[in-house]
Amino acid sequence: MSIEVKNITKFYGEQKALDAVNFSIHKGEIVGFLGPNGAGKSTMMKIITGFIAASEGEVLVNNFDLKSHKLEAQKNIGYLPEHNPLYLEMYVREYLLFNASIHKVSKDKVENIISKVGLTPEAHKKINQLSKGYRQRVGLAAALLHNPEVLILDEPTTGLDPNQLLEIRNLIKEIGKDKTVLFSTHIMQEVEAICDRVILINKGKIVADKSLKELQKNQEQVIEVEFDFKIEKQFVETIPYLKSANNIHDTNWELVFNTTEDMRSIVFDFAQENGLKTLKLNSKNKNLESLFRELTT
Ligand code: ADP
Repeated sequence: MSIEVKNITKFYGEQKALDAVNFSIHKGEIVGFLGPNGAGKSTMMKIITGFIAASEGEVLVNNFDLKSHKLEAQKNIGYLPEHNPLYLEMYVREYLLFNASIHKVSKDKVENIISKVGLTPEAHKKINQLSKGYRQRVGLAAALLHNPEVLILDEPTTGLDPNQLLEIRNLIKEIGKDKTVLFSTHIMQEVEAICDRVILINKGKIVADKSLKELQKNQEQVIEVEFDFKIEKQFVETIPYLKSANNIHDTNWELVFNTTEDMRSIVFDFAQENGLKTLKLNSKNKNLESLFRELTT
């Protein structure tokens, strides 16, 4: 097991930021750590990386207990903290060489990492001359220098434009092919694009821990339709692929399908074939985003 979090509780003064959190992450998994602002994501990541101590519970990284074998555990971790703290006055290569010397990593490894994260064209620049996307790459490169098995990335894509977002997501996916990755975000699409699994936290408690496939299986589409005539439920139930039909009132129905594909044309065709008109036809996907809202509000 790459990461084992056992009964972690964290108090900041009186405030309980984490409440008996448990999860474990297998080697090679890419896990999205999801939750609204203030849910406890950064706190959990700071505890896993040994930056702050938990009030109760234990964390093992690659079987090293953070309490008794902190250095060994940390050698296995690459960490990109929230807000990516960099020395802005340093040049990219200089900054990475500096980090490499701290980790006792050879200079040629630095060049490998620079090319791996796509920094080659920017490596001669000062960090403060870089765009946000390239600064994130520098942070990722620094986290990867000592070739850790576990990567902890705290909101790595916050503040990026859509192109940069895509690039960094692809990079995380690429890195995730041979590392265990736990990254936090509050963007559902991001999780769908990158992860094998999702851990959802709210107010310091885990409210869901499921594979992406499992979460997607439960997705539904709800269609609100208004016909021009009142019809029987039995008749409505002949609509292909329908899971259930609820009569809202009179000629208004709520139709549930077990898919997120747009089923409006199926409903439209049903109406036409039966001499009905559709006066209203709206589709609402019950997707991961609505699940997120359900579980966190
Ligand atoms: P997230 O990363 O999910 O946004 P955080 O872990 O940053 O959540 O914060 C969880 C809760 O703990 C929030 O209510 C936050 O205000 C509080 N908190 C975080 N860091 C500190 C701190 N150093 N001192 C006091 N409270 C803190």
